Amino acid sequence: MRIPFIAGNWKMHKTVHDAVVYTKEFRRLVAGVTGVEIVLAPPFPALHAVAEAARNSNVGVGAQDLYWEPEGAFTGEVSAAMIREAGAEYVIVGHSERRALFGETDAGVNRKTLAALAAELTPIVCIGETLDQRDAGAMFDVLDRQLQAGLHGLRPDQVGALVIAYEPIWAIGTGRHATPAQAAEAHGHIRRRLTEWFDAHAASQCHLVYGGSVKPENIRGLMAAGNVDGALVGGASLDVAAFAEIVARSRPATV
Ligand code: PEP
Repeated sequence: MRIPFIAGNWKMHKTVHDAVVYTKEFRRLVAGVTGVEIVLAPPFPALHAVAEAARNSNVGVGAQDLYWEPEGAFTGEVSAAMIREAGAEYVIVGHSERRALFGETDAGVNRKTLAALAAELTPIVCIGETLDQRDAGAMFDVLDRQLQAGLHGLRPDQVGALVIAYEPIWAIGTGRHATPAQAAEAHGHIRRRLTEWFDAHAASQCHLVYGGSVKPENIRGLMAAGNVDGALVGGASLDVAAFAEIVARSRPATV
């Protein structure tokens, strides 16, 4: 049974001080929420402080990226073990901003995903098409390529443990979110591919979350769409009240 999964990607926002103030308030606001897996993904410098501020709460912590090597002369990079030791249990891999601005490739996404799994971090693997690709009718091909390369060599049980974030690039930070029908179409396709390429159990365990201009006003509609198990939230997660509201509204009425 997949419970809703809601993660906030703060991107390059919030100092350590601001992150701790936010986390203390956030854990208070979501303390009564059950049946939702909740994650904050702060920038690296705040990772440990946020993990400490969230300790013994229902709020988990994730990093926004990692490097696949365990250690070495890789100036500026951070390993999976370092992230884990800082108190995080999740890591975002292959965010479209990393792909577009920092040259991240599908092969790199694959190495990072494997490194995260080996360190017992849950990877949140991001995939999604540009508007040009969608308009050209290439959405399914793009998703297939990103999935096939990004998940190459994973065992079915590892696929079952993943969070895959479908984040259409045209919806990220634009205020234009996918309709529930568009999200359901993409998520249904991803779930079918996971069944074909891995197995039905893995496909049914894997969380498929939507990302792209999620807000308190649209989360309910998106969560009601087929195969949408949660959300990866950027801009709206910077506001503690808005993000807590998104978490609260992600729960099915019956939970
Ligand atoms: C994101 O960066 O993963 C994202 C979905 O951003 P936003 O919610 O701001 O569109």
